[in-house]
Amino acid sequence: MASGFSEIELNKIRILFLFLAQKLAGESGLQVAAAIISNGNLTEDEIAKITGLPIADVRNIIGTFKSEGLIFSIKERDPDTGWTVNYWSTDPLVIYRVFKNRLKQAIYNLSKLAELLEREEIYVCEECGYKTLSDEAEKHNYRCPVCGGDLRKQDELPDFRELVKELKKAYTEFEL
Ligand SMILES: [Zn+2]
Repeated sequence: MASGFSEIELNKIRILFLFLAQKLAGESGLQVAAAIISNGNLTEDEIAKITGLPIADVRNIIGTFKSEGLIFSIKERDPDTGWTVNYWSTDPLVIYRVFKNRLKQAIYNLSKLAELLEREEIYVCEECGYKTLSDEAEKHNYRCPVCGGDLRKQDELPDFRELVKELKKAYTEFEL
């Protein structure tokens, strides 16, 4: 992972990669990401050997990382066999962009939710936890459409505006 990033920034990005890898593919994802970070360009077979994971699992995880844009492949021709070999690699800038986009999306979704909660009241079924907005609750005569329990107005709502503020702060702090 060579680039114009400082060592501290690179460490942050490595942690981000591991974090995203675990989110996307659990413990095995974490192992694959760690193998790619510490070794650089690796084939699927090499990743399987390093992590001890079955090759089918490695292929699945590689497919997930690839579709998320976290890794890319470099094709090289093996001079001995003449076969084309696929090496998997990543780059700090690539990881950084994926993370920023995800954070941006989360901020957008939460902002929308915060706006909605400012306008609307939420009703919750006391029996099964079904949640709905006031219009719907009224339409159902304040009875749960799932189980018939009482729909009660939810007074204590999480403060999403605070969360959005914090996420926006995190977003700007990641301005590398
Ligand atoms: Zn219910």
